[in-house]
Amino acid sequence: MEKPILNRLNQNLKNLPVYQPGRPIEEVAREIGLPVQSIIKLASNENPLGPSPKAREAMAQAIHDVHLYPDGNAYYLKQALSQSLHISPNRIILGNGSNEIIEFIARAFVTPGSEVICSQYCFAIYPILTLMLGGKVVEVPARGLAHDLVAMANSVTDKTAAIFVANPNNPTGTLESTGDLERFVDSIPPHIPVIIDEAYIEYLLNPAPLIDRLRAGSQSNLFLMRTFSKIYGLAGLRLGYGMGDPDVIATMEKIRQPFNTNLMAQRAGIAALGDVDHLQRSRQVNAAGLEQLASGLRELDIEYTPSHCNFILARLGDAARIFQELQKLGVITRPMGGYRLPEWLRISVGTQEQNDRFLKALGTIV
Ligand SMILES: *Cc1c(COP(=O)(O)O)cnc(C)c1O
Repeated sequence: MEKPILNRLNQNLKNLPVYQPGRPIEEVAREIGLPVQSIIKLASNENPLGPSPKAREAMAQAIHDVHLYPDGNAYYLKQALSQSLHISPNRIILGNGSNEIIEFIARAFVTPGSEVICSQYCFAIYPILTLMLGGKVVEVPARGLAHDLVAMANSVTDKTAAIFVANPNNPTGTLESTGDLERFVDSIPPHIPVIIDEAYIEYLLNPAPLIDRLRAGSQSNLFLMRTFSKIYGLAGLRLGYGMGDPDVIATMEKIRQPFNTNLMAQRAGIAALGDVDHLQRSRQVNAAGLEQLASGLRELDIEYTPSHCNFILARLGDAARIFQELQKLGVITRPMGGYRLPEWLRISVGTQEQNDRFLKALGTIV
């Protein structure tokens, strides 16, 4: 039966790709009939150590206050970020995850028919939001698995609405050098927003100091994004932030819902920022875990890409099948067919035990 209502839907939504998240433990448990405790998830680049003890404590305290609306401007969290990052609070906007920051950027700049430049193998949310808003995705072929920053800069036209670059990149784990990144940012005309997604920057020992340009107020078209979902271990609370020019930020503030970051997230975020021990331990556990996974994959004679993040990409041939086999053994990973890398599987770094369990399970399959 024909449903005339369907013709009234926003037609940009008709063929819009759907983001495929890592599968939740409970869902897989239901499906394969194993208890939740027996399943490990190495699929969404979460911190295997969990939230910091200080964040847990702050959340326990916050329970008593959740009948109150949060501070819509998140004054204290912005102050904490401002002090920790040495950047003024009016250069910071908070989001319900940095996914929401991507949405703010898209809604602030993308108009029907405008172009958004992304790299092949980029984070899936950039093209999805572009298409939703009627924009066109200009996908620049990768160099190997890394970005071709020069080609991206050369793709700028009068229709360019924004350029998105994740560095290091998800899902490839690749890192652009500081020099290349700085030359790239310098080469973008000042009226074109250039967005660097720094979701994994805290894992780097020597990150490119792009934030200095914001501190100095020397580049109003530069926008940086970060998140509490990865090294800070607060993915379930949904908290991320963007940093940019104060006038751009002030305009984006008009887009956001009045209470887009919740009270629990704001309190936990402040505490997590103050827990340097947990941050360092998370970094160490990740570095050790990456080595463990890399050496285990080498022993199994499986190709992988050197990663600067908290995950590793392994080339397994029919990765979709291996994903299924691993899942039957209670190990959830992430197949990369959606990123047009069908031979590759992405494995988030777990605890030593979890990495070991993954490697043993993989060994029985391949
Ligand atoms: C995980 C990730 C994010 C963060 O998402 P949140 O919404 O903050 O959980 C952003 N960008 C990239 C490239 C990521 O991998």
